[in-house]
Amino acid sequence: MKKLIYLDNAATTKTSPEVVSAMLPYFTEHYGNPSSVYGFAAANKEVITKQREIIAGVLGAKSNEIYFTAGGTESDNWALTATAEAYAAKGKHIITSKIEHHAILHTCEYLEKRGYEVTYLDVDENGLVDPKAVEAAIRPDTILISVMFANNEIGTIEPIAEIGRIAHEHGVLFHTDAVQAFAHVPINVDECNIDMLSASGHKLNGPKGIGFLYIRKGVKIRSFIHGGAQERKRRAGTENVPGIVGLGKAVELAAASMQERMDYEIELRDYLIDRIEKEIPYCRLNGDRKKRLPNNVNFSFRFIEGESLLIMLDMKGICASSGSACTSGSLDPSHVLLAIGLPHEIAHGSLRMTLDEETTREDVDYVVDNLKEIVAQLRSMSPLYEDFVKKQA
Ligand SMILES: *Cc1c(COP(=O)(O)O)cnc(C)c1O
Repeated sequence: MKKLIYLDNAATTKTSPEVVSAMLPYFTEHYGNPSSVYGFAAANKEVITKQREIIAGVLGAKSNEIYFTAGGTESDNWALTATAEAYAAKGKHIITSKIEHHAILHTCEYLEKRGYEVTYLDVDENGLVDPKAVEAAIRPDTILISVMFANNEIGTIEPIAEIGRIAHEHGVLFHTDAVQAFAHVPINVDECNIDMLSASGHKLNGPKGIGFLYIRKGVKIRSFIHGGAQERKRRAGTENVPGIVGLGKAVELAAASMQERMDYEIELRDYLIDRIEKEIPYCRLNGDRKKRLPNNVNFSFRFIEGESLLIMLDMKGICASSGSACTSGSLDPSHVLLAIGLPHEIAHGSLRMTLDEETTREDVDYVVDNLKEIVAQLRSMSPLYEDFVKKQA
């Protein structure tokens, strides 16, 4: 088989073989509808409850606070729109950050069209939200603060516990999009004062099209999908039993090996960062060096066009990303890179590489060796680089 080095685990991950094996019987043997009365199908209700317990255990939550959805995007949409509706009598102001995933930002835009006001907080040059700025933005009519746990492009981990404390001191609900962080770094919903949390199966070696929203008991939240009585009548529709089983298995596996995996990825991540910084000139690491997802590396290379870089890496069997998969369809540079203050031309030359536990040191060496050559080659064709070198001389 052709060499394939997959460094795009922030876009999606491989479904673990153990997860696939756990799911298969729920297609072929235990295919009953959990709402049916006979034992053959009703047993699936208990299977679902078991998965809820596994997930709740990892978060320090209760199992009836976990609601299965079709993924991170749905969880984000639900958390925002349903809170907005349920708390409209208290106020119509929402606080979020400029570097959220589009699942949050576009939902906020939708709410703005419906009479809600949204404050989009700035971040610093490393992508950190300042908890003091969160506090300063709170108004009597603020109903929700939504700040992501960790950023999908630059990997920065936000001061979630502090933001949660501030939210609760002011009696405001706190939601976090933890799609990149859940099952990758430890999260406890009580310690962080989190009222709602979004997560997604395919970002943690589980299947696509399944995720959950944690909703703290007592939060008034409207049903999202209307129909049957599934998910305590809040998210109707016959349960995705194989997906739920796969998600539960993936969470169980991730939780069991979390520390080990973090240590492994952090060492490899820092080795990759170190080699790039030492061996490729005119580059900039994006995101916070320490408060960073264990598997995220994001660099901007001056005088380089990100898309060309991706194509040439692809020819070497290396899969990476120049921003988020959702932005690569457009010509605008990523909103995250602009929010951390990068000029357009530097934001355009960005590369995100996200590792997993199967990435090896040999893979990293192969990637850096090729990257070095490709960057040099692309720069040698760049008139801007030529001018720059002349001026330096
Ligand atoms: C991937 C991602 C989402 C969307 O999740 P899906 O399950 O793909 O809908 C939302 N937020 C963040 C931070 C993500 O990385």
